[in-house]
Parts: sequence; structure tokens; C-alpha cells
Amino acid sequence: MLGKRILFVKLVIFSIKLYLDILFRSVSTAIRKQVYKLPFLKSKPPPPDAGERNIVIVGASFAGYFAARLLATSLPPNTPFRVVVIEPHSHFNFTWVFPRFCVVKGHEHKAFIPYGKYIPENLIRWVQDRVQTVERTHVQLKGGEKVSYEFLLVATGSGATDGLPSRVREDEKGEGTRSLRKMQTKIEETKRLVVVGGGAAGVELAADAKGQYPEKQVVLVHSREALMNRFGMELQVASLEGLKTLGVNVILGERLVSEDVVEKNVTLSSGRKVDCDFLIHCSGQRPASDILASLTSTSINPSGHLRVKSTLQIADDSLPNIYACGDVADTGEHNPNARHAMQQAKIASDNIVLAARGKKKQYTYKPHWAESVIKLTLGLDKSVTHFGNGKTELLFPAEEKDLALMCDGSWKHWGVTPFEDDFEGETPKK
Ligand SMILES: Cc1cc2nc3c(=O)[nH]c(=O)nc-3n(C[C@H](O)[C@H](O)[C@H](O)COP(=O)(O)OP(=O)(O)OC[C@H]3O[C@@H](n4cnc5c(N)ncnc54)[C@H](O)[C@@H]3O)c2cc1C
Repeated sequence: MLGKRILFVKLVIFSIKLYLDILFRSVSTAIRKQVYKLPFLKSKPPPPDAGERNIVIVGASFAGYFAARLLATSLPPNTPFRVVVIEPHSHFNFTWVFPRFCVVKGHEHKAFIPYGKYIPENLIRWVQDRVQTVERTHVQLKGGEKVSYEFLLVATGSGATDGLPSRVREDEKGEGTRSLRKMQTKIEETKRLVVVGGGAAGVELAADAKGQYPEKQVVLVHSREALMNRFGMELQVASLEGLKTLGVNVILGERLVSEDVVEKNVTLSSGRKVDCDFLIHCSGQRPASDILASLTSTSINPSGHLRVKSTLQIADDSLPNIYACGDVADTGEHNPNARHAMQQAKIASDNIVLAARGKKKQYTYKPHWAESVIKLTLGLDKSVTHFGNGKTELLFPAEEKDLALMCDGSWKHWGVTPFEDDFEGETPKK
């Protein structure tokens, strides 16, 4: 009990520090804006022979989009550098709500947040494309363009080969919402659903499906002996209890071996067969580091993560101008999440600004246990929020009222009015 109290106090101190940091940044950005208005700092057009001096960010999700804003608002107006963001998605993909919107209808458009107002437009170049390879001086885009860089920030995150519920494969919002609707219909029409993978996406999806359709048979298969096995014991127990209360049949310590779509069943590693009309895979996310494979294969771990130094420069001394942050980077967290990604984005962008000003000093990133907080939904109206430092855990159960999981807050966070968009249903407005 004492351990929990101490952890709680540490959590409060961490939160205060975090808010002070946010406040400090807002104030310093506001001051910088005023200073940059001084006549001698006003933007001058670069000399015609100056060439391009780009800071290129690959990927605009939690890590890259945040870094783009920080860089765009930190560089002085007379900087010779330009921030270029390369991102294939038409909209910010809000991953957290994907499992919920695979089941619950009518909110899917809310998972795709328009890019734009979060970053002052005049300060960056936005390219909707995909980087195919990174070379020493430039990146090669799928659309054919080569974009040179002086500094590069790789924020390509991770991808799920099976797509939903972890990721949407499509780049355009219209196609993404269509995919979510297809999934909703499939789940609605299914009598016997099997979900494979007892991490957050699998637990949330299975709980929502059973919560929405109590008459259906929902089975969750997980290869480990506990659900949420990368987290502490208390969360493992809470998630198992939550699913059992809803009536989800949880099978632990078994792997999926095969699916028979004719006989409508799946076979597990013990030989056991489970009836199955529809199978959903919720495992197997992989870091998107391939774009660096030809340039610096030694910087890629067997897991696919990019090896980084504590400064978030990639672990290749010949490429000090390449940084990485977010899910793609191996920064030592067991359970990387959006908070880590944004914290790293802060360090990486601060370091790029320092290096662009010719400074040797670099900040370092150290993960903090409180950033590993997870809020796990356990059905349509319940959740648990979990903190743990490896020894002690704090668990906060809550009742949830909003089926859209308060994603309006995320729209506001990214500078847009919920849920105003240039989309009507699945198609862009004229
Ligand atoms: C279902 C689900 C629920 C989650 N819930 C939570 C939660 O509740 N709280 C939490 O903190 N975290 C949660 N997470 C984790 C969180 O989403 C990730 O940690 C976070 O998205 C990592 O951000 P990122 O910017 O590093 O990468 P990503 O979000 O993976 O984004 C990478 C970006 O890079 C782009 N990209 C990839 N390759 C290229 C390329 N070659 N060229 C150009 N662009 C490229 C992608 O299009 C994408 O926009 C959840 C994850 C999932 C899957």
C-alpha cells in the first residue's frame, strides 16, 4: 500500500513537471513570435544560388506531426532551412479508436483528422507521398521526386500487415472509412468471431464486439499465459476479468495454426478446433524502417527497430544528421505509445534546431515509466487506466460514457474543430 502511495505521489510530480514544460514551451513560442517580428529578423528571400536546405520529416503521426510543428515554430523566419513533411495519408490516422470503430457504427469519419491548421502553412512544405529509400543526401519518393535534406527525421512508426484493427492500409480518408464500415458489417453478420492476439487491440476489439452483440460467440486466442502480458500483473488480471464478465471466451497459451474457411473453424496449436465464421488478427506490428535498409542496415535491429543514440540520432556515426523517433526507434520502452513518440519528437526536434544553428550540444532522451500509461477499454462503457514502474502498479477503473472515446479532444489537440472536415461521408466535398 505504501508503495502505491509513493508511486501516486511520483505520478503527480511527473504530471506537474509535464504541465510546466508545456507552459514553458507555449510562453517561449509566444515570445519567439514577437521577437521574430523585429525588423532585422524579418524574412529575407534566400539568395538565388543558395540551393535547398531542407529539414525533412518522414511520417506525420504522433511523432512526425508534433516534430513538424515544433520545428516550424522554433526556427527563426530568416532561417535558411525549410521544413518538408512527407506523409502518404490524406489525414492523421487516430489509431486509438480503430478497434472501437471496427465495431460501433457512425463514428468512423472521426478517426481521420484533417492535417493543416496545427502547423502554420507558410513555414513548411507538405508532400503527400511515400518515401521509398533514404540516400545520403536525399530521399527518393514513390511519386518519382527526390527531396534533398540537410537533416532528416524518420518518424515512420510501425505497420500491421493485417491492417485493421491496428492500422488502416489505405491512404485516403474515404477509403479508410469504407474499410472500417466493411469491418463493422462483417462483425455484425458474424455469429462466431475469433480474435487472435491478447494485446490492447485484441482485448478492446473482443470486448467491444461482445458488448455490442452479446448474443454472438466471441473467442479471444492469445499465445501467452496472460493477456496484456507486456504490462503488469494487475492489468493482466483486470483485462481477463473484464472479458470474462462480458462473456468473451478467452483461450490462453495457444497459437493459431490454420483456418478452414469451408468447415468454418480454426485449429490451435494443441489441435483444438474452434468454430469461426470470421477471424481477426490483432498481432504482428512491425516497425517501418525498411527505407533505411540500403543506406545503413546495421542501424536496424532484428526486430526492425532503428537503433538510436540517446540523442535520437541513428546509431551510425557516419550519419549524424539522421534522427529517428516514435514507434520506429528502439529507445528501450517495453510498450511504446503516443506519449513516448511525442516526448521523443520534442528531443529530436530540439536537437535538430541546435545542430542547424551549428551547436554541438544535444539533449538526451530517457524514458519515464509514467509515459507508459495505458487506458484500456473493457467493453462499451468501462475502462481501466494503468500505470506501473515495473515493481508497483496503479489501476484506475472508470465508467465510459462516450462511444467515440472522446476523440473530439484529439481533433482539438491537432488544431481543428471537431468534426469539421472537407469530407462528406466517404468522398471529399466539392
Ligand atoms: C489500435 C491501437 C491503439 C492504440 N492506443 C493507444 C493509446 O490509447 N494511447 C497511446 O499512447 N498509444 C496508443 N497506441 C500506440 C500509438 O498509436 C503509437 O505508439 C503511435 O501511433 C506511434 O506514433 P508514431 O508517430 O511513431 O508512428 P505511427 O503512428 O505508426 O505513424 C507513422 C506515420 O509514418 C507514415 N509513414 C510510414 N512509412 C512512411 C514512408 N515510407 N514515407 C512517408 N511516411 C511514412 C505513416 O503513414 C504514419 O502516418 C495505439 C496503437 C494502436 C495500433
